[in-house]
Amino acid sequence: MTTETAPSSNFLRSIIENDLQSGHLESRRWGPPPATAQARLAAPVDTARIRTRFPPEPNGYLHIGHAKSICLNFGLAKDYDGICHLRFDDTNPEKEEDEYVRAIIDMVQWLGFEWSVGGVEHCYYASDYFEAMYGFAEALVQAGHAYVDEQSAEQMRATRGTLTEAGTDSPWRDRPAHESLRLLREMRAGVHPDGRMALRARIDMASPNINLRDPVLYRIRHAEHHRTGNTWCIYPMYSWAHPVEDALEGITHSICTLEFEDQRPFYDWILQRLAELGQLAAPLPRQYEFARLNLEYVVTSKRKLRELVLEGHVNGWDDPRLPTLAGLRRRGYTPASIRLFCDRLGVSKADSRIEYSVLEQALRDDLDPIADRAVAILDPLRLVITNFPDARIETCSAPLNPHAPDGPRRRFPFTRTLYIERDDFREDPPRKYFRLFPGNLVRLKYAWVIRCTGFTRNEDGDITEVQAEYLPDTRSGTQGADAIKVKGTITWISAVHAIAAEFRLYDRLFLDAHPDSGQRDFLQLINPESCRTVQGLLEPGVRAVPGATWQFERLGYFVADRELSTPERPVLNRSVTLRDTWART
Ligand code: ATP
Ligand code: MG
Repeated sequence: MTTETAPSSNFLRSIIENDLQSGHLESRRWGPPPATAQARLAAPVDTARIRTRFPPEPNGYLHIGHAKSICLNFGLAKDYDGICHLRFDDTNPEKEEDEYVRAIIDMVQWLGFEWSVGGVEHCYYASDYFEAMYGFAEALVQAGHAYVDEQSAEQMRATRGTLTEAGTDSPWRDRPAHESLRLLREMRAGVHPDGRMALRARIDMASPNINLRDPVLYRIRHAEHHRTGNTWCIYPMYSWAHPVEDALEGITHSICTLEFEDQRPFYDWILQRLAELGQLAAPLPRQYEFARLNLEYVVTSKRKLRELVLEGHVNGWDDPRLPTLAGLRRRGYTPASIRLFCDRLGVSKADSRIEYSVLEQALRDDLDPIADRAVAILDPLRLVITNFPDARIETCSAPLNPHAPDGPRRRFPFTRTLYIERDDFREDPPRKYFRLFPGNLVRLKYAWVIRCTGFTRNEDGDITEVQAEYLPDTRSGTQGADAIKVKGTITWISAVHAIAAEFRLYDRLFLDAHPDSGQRDFLQLINPESCRTVQGLLEPGVRAVPGATWQFERLGYFVADRELSTPERPVLNRSVTLRDTWART
């Protein structure tokens, strides 16, 4: 698979293509939100063929599941000459913060998506619609479609009924519209305390769909909002706010996850009532549902992520082990790799779990053709080439990327004293071990063939040095270099030139593939060895500026840590190993 595959068809694309073919979206008008019917009808014809939206609630950091929704909504808009809005669904005053708003903007941009079209910024805040939304509520009350209920929250719950039993009408359900209107105005004016009463839609307490049993539209909440301050003390419920937000923005296709399927009848009910009342202009938005992304070995609930961060199980929202987009970026994931992953997932209506290796493979496939190669040694062991003169320095070279053998090259010095990986030498080699052991020949990659002549131990019995001789006629790239056949090739770095560096090697954050399933406490399933830090060496010439990425030969893809790395003191995160080490056995 390449990164440039044509988008594969899916049910959402079919729906959009049908809508475009039928022409009913064509003469749609569009004005800046909030556009009620009057404003919409006076506005020019929409130049966007469709409108979608990505509507995060600013109460946490975005994660890989959100990336699926972002790629889908922005991707569809792009493919069909439409516009995708970034909408902060900030109707809940208590958990929302500006910090999250900034982090969300940062991440959507990082993923490579744009909401500025022709000089217009399509970034919106649902809280800017509070006044329009309130106006709609009054219209619903006046038309008898909503009433103020003075039952307590418990009474409402108790009279809602069950899946098999109808609910019971509230004693306030048939109160005159003017009385509900007066109370609604009092609610807004702050006359009543939290929970004293609520505004409910008047639909059908016997509906088989519980969501249609007179759902609450407004509740009283004397709380300060991060953008509207203390202007409001009533806040809209999500299921009421969402369709209205879509309509006020002129969204054509409102795409959400499957758990909202049961809300769709209410979504349509509310928009149809408001259209009948002349509050909204046709065509009305339509809601479609797709299966959310469930990725193995991670948690993506914002509540659980917050717990991991705030209780210090990880180091912040951008910890490289987290599936937050900030964490994935710090780990070395590229925007292209995440878009590729989302493309490969496709879109369906069936819930499934995706193996973590699918995400990792997308990163390898993105980086392999573009990442520079270099050598790193994680566990250094000194190797002395005893027949190589002390003062001699030879420059070896290799292509920066083997997919471009004639492209730019990297150069690095070969000297008498080198470092190799400790694991590349064995005193007593096991069967089929082709690397260095006494008497054996191996090739030092991009340099000469050497023969191991001995090794040194310290008082504790640890091997501190290996000795070898090089075979002068075997230099890589020279004629006859391959006359002597060897079975092993190992990597090395010149000792005096090597750069000391810290490497962070990650493993999965949870020991269980489904940490948030069942009744278990996901915190008990944290892998205590999810990060191993080692001090090693880097090939000279590697400039570990934050965010730079390499493939270190044989070890995997690494990124210089965005927060901690400097060229003088590199800190490198392993993004992914070269092969799938998570595959099921
Ligand atoms: P949580 O329930 O953990 O708070 P959320 O889904 O409510 O998360 P929102 O900020 O409301 O978070 O999500 C914004 C958008 O991202 C929604 O349209 C939602 O459907 C979508 N989304 C969230 N998680 C996923 C997921 N795992 N897969 C696909 N889309 C997702
Ligand atoms: Mg939500």
